[in-house]
Amino acid sequence: MDDVNPATAEVFAQIPLSNQDDLKAAINSANKAFPMWSKMSVEKRANYLMKISSLIKENLDQLAQAESQDTGKPLQLARVVDIPRASANMEFFAHAITQFSSESHSGKNSINYTLRRPVGLVACISPWNLPLYLFTWKIAPALAAGNCVIAKPSEITPYTAYLFSRLCIEAGLPKGVLNILHGQGPEIGNTIVESENIKAVSFTGGTTTGRRIAEISAPLFRKVSLELGGKNPALVFADCDLDKAVEGLVRASFTNQGEICLCASRIYIEKSIYEQFKGKFVDKVKALKVGAPDEQSSNMGALVSAQHLDKVRRYIAIAKEEGGRLLCGEEPIELEEKYKHGYFLRPHVFENLPNTCTTNQEEIFGPLVSLNVFQGEEEALLLANDSEYGLASSIWTKDLSKANRIADQIETGIVWINCWMNRDLRTPFGGMKNSGLGREGGLEALRFFTEPKNVCIEY
Ligand code: NAD
Repeated sequence: MDDVNPATAEVFAQIPLSNQDDLKAAINSANKAFPMWSKMSVEKRANYLMKISSLIKENLDQLAQAESQDTGKPLQLARVVDIPRASANMEFFAHAITQFSSESHSGKNSINYTLRRPVGLVACISPWNLPLYLFTWKIAPALAAGNCVIAKPSEITPYTAYLFSRLCIEAGLPKGVLNILHGQGPEIGNTIVESENIKAVSFTGGTTTGRRIAEISAPLFRKVSLELGGKNPALVFADCDLDKAVEGLVRASFTNQGEICLCASRIYIEKSIYEQFKGKFVDKVKALKVGAPDEQSSNMGALVSAQHLDKVRRYIAIAKEEGGRLLCGEEPIELEEKYKHGYFLRPHVFENLPNTCTTNQEEIFGPLVSLNVFQGEEEALLLANDSEYGLASSIWTKDLSKANRIADQIETGIVWINCWMNRDLRTPFGGMKNSGLGREGGLEALRFFTEPKNVCIEY
C-alpha cells in the first residue's frame, strides 16, 4: 500500500497489507513467547523497555524526520513533542512496573491479597495523528505488565512504527513478544479484533470504530480500553488573564493542525470580554505560519491526507451554510513549488453559530474552531456539557473556587485550569460519554493490562 507524504502529495514508501496468515503467524509466535516473557522478572522486562527508550533518543533525528514526512506536521513539533514522548512512554512504564503493587485486605481471622497476572495476548491499535507517541503509549504498559502484543499502527502513518520495530530488534527484544501488523483498519484491524485469541484490546481512534470494536468484544467478554473522539470546550471567563488565555487557546486550537483529540474546538467566552478576546485571538491566528514542515518558522504543516482535507473543507462549507461568520482562514498560503500539491489549510475561526449546529456538535479534527458567547457560570456549564462527547476541557479564570466548581461538574475526563495539554503520565487519561471507555495512563494502564485474582487465607 502506498504511503504518501501529505506535504508534497508524493508516495515515499510502501507498506505491506498484512493478512489472515500474517495474523496467524503473529499469534503463534506470541503464544510461544508468552510463557518466557510473562515469567521474566520485572527488572529484566524493564531493562528491555529502557533500552528501547534509549534507542529512540539516539535516533531522534531520523524518527522526527520520518514522523513529519508521514503526517505533514512540522518537523520541530515531531522533534520536541512526538519522539521525545515516545521515548518517555517506554521509560515511564519501565519504571512504573517496578513500582506496581497490588492490594491486601485483612479481616477477622483472614487476609486477602490480590495477585495481578498479565492478561495474555493483547492488541494495541492506534491512529494517525500522533503516530509513534500513541503507539508506544499502549505498547509500553502492555509489555511492561508481561503481555505479548499484536500492534497495528494507522495505515495512513505507518512509517515510524516500522522504524520502531527495527529498534526493538536492535534492543534484543525476544522474538514474538511484539508483533506489528500493517494495513487497513476495516481489513486487518477488524481481523485482529475478531480473533478470539486476543484477550484485551487497547484502541485509540474514532468513535465509530470504537463502537464496532466494543460490539465485537462484548460477546467475547474481553477487556477493552477505548480512547475516542472529542469536541472539547474551552470556557473563558471575564476574570481570566486574557493574554494567557488567548495564547493558550491558539495553541489548544491549532497545534498539530488541530489534529489532536484534546484540541479545543468550541471556545465559549463571557459576554463582557467577547469582542476583546476575539480581536486578540484572531490577530494571533492570522499570524500563524502555515508552511513547509521542515522550516523552523512554520507553526502548522499539512493535514494528514487528501481525504481528511476534503472532510475539513466540507465542514467549512457546512459552517457557512449554518450561518457562521468566518473571521479568518481564507488568506492564500505562500508555498514553494515542492509543496504546491500538499494538503495545506489555514486555521479557520468562525463565530455566530448556535450550539446545536453540526459545526458545534460533530468532531472535525482539523484547524477549525468556533467562538461563542455565554453569560455567567451556569450557562457556561450548560453549553460545555451540551455534547455527546466528553474528552477534555479547559477553564480560564483567576477565580480558582469557580474553576474547581466547574471542574467538578463538567462532563469531561480531563480538565485543564489555565493551561492546556499539561500532561503528567501518572494521571488517568481518557474520556466519558462517546469519548471512550476506561482510562489509560500510570497505574490505570497497568491495571488494564493485568487480570486481578484474589487469594484468601484463613488463620
Ligand atoms: P480510526 O478509527 O479510523 O482508526 C484508528 C485505528 O483503527 C487505525 O489504526 C485504523 O486502521 C484502525 N481501524 C479502523 N477500522 C477498524 C476496524 N473496523 N477494526 C479494527 N481497527 C480498525 O481513527 P483515525 O482517523 O485514525 O484517528 C482519528 C480519531 O482518533 C479521531 O476521532 C480522534 O479524536 C481520535 N483520537 C482519540 C484520542 C484519545 O486519546 N481519545 C487520541 C488520538 C486520536
